[in-house]
Amino acid sequence: MTTTRPEGLPDQLRHYIGGKLVDSVNGETFDVLEPTTNETYIQCASGTADDVDLAVAAARKAFDEGPWPRMMPRERANILYRVADEVSKMNERLAARESFDSGLPIRQASGQAKRAAENFRFFADLIVAQVDDAFRMPGRQMNYVNRKPKGVAGLITPWNTPFMQESWKLAPALASGCTVVLKPAEFTPLSAELWVEVFENAGLPEGVFNMVHGFGESAGDALVKHPDVNLISFTGETTTGQIIFGNCAPTMKSMSMELGGKSPAIIFADADFEAALDSTLFGVYSLNGERCTASSRLLVERPIYDRFVEAYAERAKKVKVGPPSDPDTELAALVHPSHYDRVMNYVEVGKQEARLVAGGKRPDHLPEGNYLEATVFADVPRDARIFQEEIFGPVVAITPFDTEEEAIELANSVKYGLAAYVWTSDVTRAHNVSHAIESGMVWINSHNVRDLRTPFGGVKGSGLGQEGGYRSLDFYSVQQAIHVTLGDVHTTRFGATGYSENDPGLAGPGS
Ligand code: NAD
Repeated sequence: MTTTRPEGLPDQLRHYIGGKLVDSVNGETFDVLEPTTNETYIQCASGTADDVDLAVAAARKAFDEGPWPRMMPRERANILYRVADEVSKMNERLAARESFDSGLPIRQASGQAKRAAENFRFFADLIVAQVDDAFRMPGRQMNYVNRKPKGVAGLITPWNTPFMQESWKLAPALASGCTVVLKPAEFTPLSAELWVEVFENAGLPEGVFNMVHGFGESAGDALVKHPDVNLISFTGETTTGQIIFGNCAPTMKSMSMELGGKSPAIIFADADFEAALDSTLFGVYSLNGERCTASSRLLVERPIYDRFVEAYAERAKKVKVGPPSDPDTELAALVHPSHYDRVMNYVEVGKQEARLVAGGKRPDHLPEGNYLEATVFADVPRDARIFQEEIFGPVVAITPFDTEEEAIELANSVKYGLAAYVWTSDVTRAHNVSHAIESGMVWINSHNVRDLRTPFGGVKGSGLGQEGGYRSLDFYSVQQAIHVTLGDVHTTRFGATGYSENDPGLAGPGS
């Protein structure tokens, strides 16, 4: 079953460099597939180091000579508000493209523009309200923070909710005054093209936003290794993050890494059963299960275990799998045949490791495309691959536990530490268990609802650094400390009078 091709697609997807849509220097393109048929629907320019060189040069020129880093925060914010307005205006177009290109159910794709726009409004608000530290040493010294944009930002993004992920990096990078080169994911380049229209209509100065399409190993790698790029903000797989980490070292780039996850939801027997059921089903099957914070491991306390597994499996069997363009579809096609094969391989592994209680195969009514039924494995042991490894699809692993300690231990027994969910009506336990979980974020009796002011990021294999609110602006800024003497200069006079009674010492007057 196919889906609807959006109207008004260009003949080909191109790079955007120095204010112009351009082909690759070598003219190369790659095939972009549509996930309900896996047929090629468009060609996309395939960038190499030559294209990255041109994009970085344009971003560098805009940074060194252009108005963007030098604007008053209010002036920059006004352009970012216009960006948000432009993004909001294209909600339906964006949803249609995102759904068509990535296989996201259309109803779930349509929230993305609103969220992307909100990212720009939020960071525009922050820069006009930004406060930096100043410290006074009465009569002696004044110290203050001179915040400056870090320079040219390399932004490398994944294919799940691609436009939203791109906005999550573009908004704080641009708000901070950086110029950028974006490398969108090669599976889903279609919606990124909309940024060109958005930024041009909003009046972003030329060269501030640049985009190079292509594969990670060529375009992405060249961006990471480029000596004129000051930072890399990366979202993607942990193994890719490890490679990029190494490749940033020779040029000492700042790095922010949002990586994979295998997030636990701990459901105690005293939890609101129905609320936990609804939330954990939505948590793993929304966005086709291609969600970094998916509650992909459910740890359920023994007294309610059988009842929970049964109820969960019954609901999973009724999850509506269908084409992305159908407004009733709850779970649609996975992004790409190679990813689909990977997920299906995990399903086969799971059948050897645990008890399959729902799904586990392609739906009968969808003979082609990357479709998989909502899949549930129960009695999953902790050393199972489907317990330990990120599947990034509509597959959940359910495991029983007997004590609070065991639940915490199971939660922490994987290499990841992105999100966690705790379901209990015992307030004390909710907090104590949350504190003991090794993860960057915890939701208590809640689905994944984000307040943009809070920290976002993972620990262990799930990431490096934390963004969110002012933390994101800090990542894209240099905080230069300026120290100025207010009174007489007291320096130990080497080669003259030498040390004296009033010598401030090596640590200086502030200590
Ligand atoms: P991926 O690592 O395969 O690719 C991500 C991006 O990196 C793509 O643009 C790709 O072209 C590029 N890339 C690949 N190799 C590269 C290299 N050697 N040098 C430079 N760039 C390179 O990830 P994916 O499959 O696109 O995305 C899914 C992964 O992203 C999952 O693991 C998911 O958990 C993770 N993710 C994490 C978060 C988070 O916030 N923690 C959010 C979304 C997705």
